[in-house]
Amino acid sequence: MLPASVDEAVEALAATPGAVPVAGATDLMEAVNAGRLRPAALIGLGRITELRGWRYEDGGTAVLGAGLTHARMDRPDFAALIPALADAARTAGPPQVRNVGTLGGNLATAAATGDTLPVLAALEATATLARAGSTREVPVSHLLTGLDPLRPGELLTWVRVPLLHAPQVFLKSTGRSGPARATASVALVLDPARRAVRCAVGAVAPVPLRPLEAEAWVAGCIDWDARGEDGATTIDPAALAAFGEYVAGACIPDGALEGAGEGPSATAVRLRRTVAVLARRALGRALK
Ligand SMILES: Cc1cc2nc3c(=O)[nH]c(=O)nc-3n(C[C@H](O)[C@H](O)[C@H](O)COP(=O)(O)OP(=O)(O)OC[C@H]3O[C@@H](n4cnc5c(N)ncnc54)[C@H](O)[C@@H]3O)c2cc1C
Repeated sequence: MLPASVDEAVEALAATPGAVPVAGATDLMEAVNAGRLRPAALIGLGRITELRGWRYEDGGTAVLGAGLTHARMDRPDFAALIPALADAARTAGPPQVRNVGTLGGNLATAAATGDTLPVLAALEATATLARAGSTREVPVSHLLTGLDPLRPGELLTWVRVPLLHAPQVFLKSTGRSGPARATASVALVLDPARRAVRCAVGAVAPVPLRPLEAEAWVAGCIDWDARGEDGATTIDPAALAAFGEYVAGACIPDGALEGAGEGPSATAVRLRRTVAVLARRALGRALK
């Protein structure tokens, strides 16, 4: 089935028990081929043009269509709007995947290595979920943690993102060169109006982690009014390094370093070091 509007798609989902939506099919075909998914029918979203773009809303919000492809989010007009999401989209697989893979598919799959997920968590984005006759809006973090999951027959239509007009960064470590899934990623956004730093760490746990205490601590270390000679917001370099360690320790606690009683697990130690470096670099770049 190839509906041409959101209304047609939700009606088709309601009318066909066991049907699932499909956008770029990059994750879906992997699941079908591996035998993890046997959909009774597919509802193709490719003809729903309204979901392929974005619009502005009063109150400084961008409303992003679930059908936005990674390649589209990487274009300069989008990158000027939500730079961290563009950075994440740029690294989400090889070009043939990014040309068809979508924001909605990334979010609905909710893989630990989903690159847009930490960005949406740091931005405190919300998602609109539609079914025939009703819609509901849930924080992306609730969607991902299972507090308020996507239900069978629901279509993810829009993602609401506050426009902060301030530096934001996404950094990803893959452990090899070329396109690959993240071993760890960090999204960091500055919110100068609230004098806040928001950070989310991806790929090290099933869902993105927010190191809230580290965020609050480092926001207090930043001189939000002073600008350095080069125009940068200032922070003590020691605080920058301490932030990296604080974030890494919060996301990979000491307990995780113990490998079945055999002392620190080398993998966990390496991962903690990687997260510390990514978090320090992300904040350093955001404050430049
Ligand atoms: C070789 C390869 C490399 C990849 N590398 C990366 C990577 O580095 N980083 C990364 O983040 N991802 C990566 N991916 C995963 C994938 O490309 C992304 O998750 C992509 O965003 C999925 O979007 P899609 O449109 O293809 O989703 P689909 O495959 O069409 O759908 C995926 C799931 O989401 C559901 N779905 C899709 N749209 C909706 C909607 N609007 N409402 C409700 N449910 C919906 C489908 O029913 C299905 O269960 C890779 C995939 C491949 C094959």
